[in-house]
Amino acid sequence: MLKRPLALIAALLLILLISWSLRPKPSAEVARTALIMGTLVEIKGVGPDQKKIEDAISAAFASMRSDEERFSTRIATSQISALNRATTAIEVDPEVLAVLQLGQRITRESEGAFYMGLGGLKKLWDFDAVTPGVPEPSEIKAVLPATTGNLLEISGVRVVRSDQRMQLDLGGIAKGYAVDRALALLRASGLESASVNAGGDIGLLGGHGERPWKIGIQHPRKSGELLATIELRDRAVVTSGDYERFFMQDGVRYHHIFDPQTGFPARGCQSVSVVAPTAAEADALATAAFVLGPADGLALLENEPDVEGLIVDADGRITLTGGLKDQIQWR
Ligand code: ADP
Ligand code: MG
Repeated sequence: MLKRPLALIAALLLILLISWSLRPKPSAEVARTALIMGTLVEIKGVGPDQKKIEDAISAAFASMRSDEERFSTRIATSQISALNRATTAIEVDPEVLAVLQLGQRITRESEGAFYMGLGGLKKLWDFDAVTPGVPEPSEIKAVLPATTGNLLEISGVRVVRSDQRMQLDLGGIAKGYAVDRALALLRASGLESASVNAGGDIGLLGGHGERPWKIGIQHPRKSGELLATIELRDRAVVTSGDYERFFMQDGVRYHHIFDPQTGFPARGCQSVSVVAPTAAEADALATAAFVLGPADGLALLENEPDVEGLIVDADGRITLTGGLKDQIQWR
């Protein structure tokens, strides 16, 4: 007689226990910042387990630091510094090879507007100096790439510069790549959504909870004001602007995105924002389109599969790729 009610109670308790353990857990959001690659990097993670998010974010920061050690020309032991010294082919990491190959693809597609061989020029302009100034035209001419031909000889995993005078500088692409790798780690740790923002190079995993991420596009001439916002999921968005690193001399703005043809800052744009599947691509394409200027820059972005962009030209006029028109909210 007593047996059956007991079994019933046990079954009910079991069901209760299972549904309790399967209950939807409240999502935690964790945000952390760190100084990496000379910029403030902010990583946000969303998921049910706070500790897991924190561990994933620590791993993502560690990955970005290791990429800085690979790519930075300021670090003598980096592989890019080694390539800048090497006179014969040396073996590089798969990560370095991947970035060099992507960069060379963007060089071809932008007909040389994006060029990873401007290390000498960057050193000459020295935007990190206490009082930077315009170099002499003769100095600029001396460091401009002697050829517009191949930048590198790549055979398997071995790489050497084609021209010993050329100095590599991956400042226009490496940060985006590091963002992608950080985001891949956050994804692999099972986070449902995350964002990595390295000073305007942004990678997004999923949406922000139920909604998409809302990404602000900085107004290039009104500091601290947004020009627009874009709602995105699982995308990268990168902005290159003339307002981030610049100095004024005789009323003229000199900034750090160079036209490889002239050795002077490119004059066609105030800013270019690019939305792409990866931050590495978005980073390189934003720099490339900036150098090409509004018309050719827009054509470059329109030709790339799965890529959208917003260009503010030198007079403040805005142009958009076709696909972005429905995704943008003006401020
Ligand atoms: P930020 O580093 O502010 O995000 P960019 O992605 O546009 O901005 O990169 C600018 C950096 O790219 C410069 O500091 C320099 O290292 C490098 N660079 C400048 N001009 C070019 C160019 N034409 N092609 C490739 N890289 C460039
Ligand atoms: Mg760039």
